[in-house]
Order: sequence, then C-alpha cells, then structure tokens
Amino acid sequence: MINCNKSFAQARRLAIITRRLYQVLAIESSCDDSCLALLEKVPNKPPIVIDHLKRTLNSTVTGGIVPPVAVHFHQQNLASMVSEFTNKHNFNTKPPDLICCTRGPGMIGSLSSGLQLAKGLCIGWNRPLIGVHHMLGHILVSKLASRPVYPFLSLLCSGGHTMLVLSKSLIHHEIIVDTMDIAVGDSLDKCARELGIQGNVLGKELEAFVDAIPQPLKRKFDDIRTQTRDNEFKFKLTRPLRNASIPQVIEFTFASFLSSIQHHKSSYGLDEETQQFLAFKIQKFIFQHIIDRVNIAFCKHGIDGNGDRKFENVKHLIVSGGVASNQTFRKLLNQELKLASISQDPANVEFIFPDISLCTDNAIMIGVAGIEIFETLQKETDLTVLPIRKWPMNEILEVDSWKDIPEHQVQSIINL
Ligand code: ZN
Repeated sequence: MINCNKSFAQARRLAIITRRLYQVLAIESSCDDSCLALLEKVPNKPPIVIDHLKRTLNSTVTGGIVPPVAVHFHQQNLASMVSEFTNKHNFNTKPPDLICCTRGPGMIGSLSSGLQLAKGLCIGWNRPLIGVHHMLGHILVSKLASRPVYPFLSLLCSGGHTMLVLSKSLIHHEIIVDTMDIAVGDSLDKCARELGIQGNVLGKELEAFVDAIPQPLKRKFDDIRTQTRDNEFKFKLTRPLRNASIPQVIEFTFASFLSSIQHHKSSYGLDEETQQFLAFKIQKFIFQHIIDRVNIAFCKHGIDGNGDRKFENVKHLIVSGGVASNQTFRKLLNQELKLASISQDPANVEFIFPDISLCTDNAIMIGVAGIEIFETLQKETDLTVLPIRKWPMNEILEVDSWKDIPEHQVQSIINL
C-alpha cells in the first residue's frame, strides 16, 4: 500500500516535471503606453513574469494625449519592442505559445496598432490570439501576488476610468459605481496643470508636490475649513454629492474640482502658499469623494439596516489603476472605508494593492487576464477581430470573434 502510494506520488511528480511551461506574449496599447510582456505559466500556478517593456508617449508639449500622435508612437515602438524580445528570448527558435493583446476599451487607433501586430505574430507563429478586456487586466493582475476569492470588489482608479466593480466570476462583473463625467486621474492631471505644476504624468507630479509640503504646513491646511470662503485663502471647496440619502444610481463626479481652482485663480490669483493649499485640499477632497461614494455603496449593498446584502460574502477589495499607487489615497482608504458595513468581521476583509508598477497600464496584466481566459474558458479570438472603443465589463463574452479552442490544441499548449 505504501509502495503504491509512493509510486503514485512519483508518477505525479514526474507528470508535473514533464508538464511543459508554456510562454505567453502580451501586448497593451489602449492609450499612450506601448507595453510588451513575456510570461511563463504552469497550469494551476500563478504566472511568472519573465520580461516586460513599457514606453510612454511624452505629452508634455501637447498638454494632453492627442490620439493620432499616440497611434504614431505605438507604430514606431511596438514592432521594435517585439524585435528586441525576439532576439533576447530566442523567439525565432521557439516562439511563445499564446499571444494576448488588449482589444478594448480604449482609443481605437492605439488599440489597432497593438492588435494588428498581434494578428501578424499569430499568423507567423501559428499561435492562438486572446483579445483581452483592458479592465479585466487591471482586476486580475492582483492574482500575481495574491488569490482573491469570488465574489470580490475592485476599485479601479486611473486616468481613463474610475469604478467600483463587483466580480462574481471571470465573466460576471457588475459596475456598482461609475463616473458621471471624467475619470479621477484625468481630474488630478487637469487640476495639477491649472495649479501650474509641470511634468508628463501630472497626477504623479501633484502627489510629489503635496508630499513636499512641510509637515507643520500640512497640519495647518488640514485644520482649515473650506465650506465657505471664510478662510485665510478665501478658497471654497466642498465634497460633491454629499447628501444623506442613498441615491438610486451611485456615481462619482470629478469635473467640479477643476472649476473650483479656475474660479479661485481668476478671482484671487495664486501665490506660493495658496498653490500649496489648493494642491493639498484638492488631492485630499478628490480621494475623500471616492471614499464617500464607496461607503454609500457599502451601505446600500451591505449587511446593516436596509442594505440588500449584495456584498455580504466579499472578502477581498482590490484597489488598482494608476491613481491607486498614490500613498495618500491608500492611507485614506485604510482609515476611512467602512468595512463594517459589509462584513460582521471587518478584519476579514482584505485590501489587495497590486505592486505599484502593475497599477499603471502594462502588458503583464493583459497576459495574466489572457491566461485566465485561455485556461478557464478555453476560448480564443478570431483573426477577424476589431478593437472595441467602449466595451462594458459585464459583456466580456457578449462580443463577436470569440471561439472555442479545440481541446487537442489546448492540451498541446498545456502538456508535452
Ligand atoms: Zn488602464
């Protein structure tokens, strides 16, 4: 009996050893980042990142992303990046087994640049293509370092999106809170520019600018109320949509922050301390507005009072997207989110913050999501695929061009 068990264990070990690692090449080009990643995968284990590259369009001169300029940028960069990987990782001898590429949502020209290149690679190497939903990448990249269990919540905050999503499975996602106007990252960028802060990624520059304010000054700023102009800076700023009742549709709104700065500048000007004060307050209020709305959603879908208990079994809250890398934001989330509204034992609700380098757009997240689709759904994308500008998260499979991968092809990739 013992021998039998031993031989079974040996056979299993041998099967694992002989099971081939398969390699995945991933491309992301939905906005202004040209990204490429090579991942390695053993079934039932998290993917391993072998290599990744990212080149970002510098939009300092244009003051924002100009879509045709972004297309030229991707066309200049993506092919040379693939060529670099081909030489470095010997793709001519052994090409990757699977190609994953962002299909949408995003800017059509930018998406097309990556998708066309991916199609060419699939034809040349005779490999399947997986057209990946960009937001699914932002959510699933957390699986590299942790194991979120469905149902879980994701708070996605970046230059292109701000949303709270409830995920019940790989393909079942419900957007609980979305923005009614612009995305939080866009708002931070615009406010930073209006305040005279310079750089390429202005939201990041704003964070650095606020961090550099001396601590005593920050404490002073924190104590100043701005509900009216009756303060030393004559600056009025309130947190939008702060009403006591729970609305039918819970939304974020970020457009008013910029107009507050514009109004103040035109009426009162902007000396150095006022610039610091406005930057400090705007950044904090933007983050607190997100927290306000998420807390309202917790209340509406939580376990207290009239809550509909939709979030009852949620144990993980993923916070991802470029803005999620902001340390002030992370601290405020930890301090001010009312986790007790959704769980009897709030200590059991775990925050998952993907590594900062994975919070901004990257190809690793596209590879991770593509692998999940390949292994769980065994689906690939037909080469007639077109990019999708707006692709709702609750319609991952409800778009054309998905098809089943024949079982023998799945096995030929996963096994020897
Ligand atoms: Zn993104």
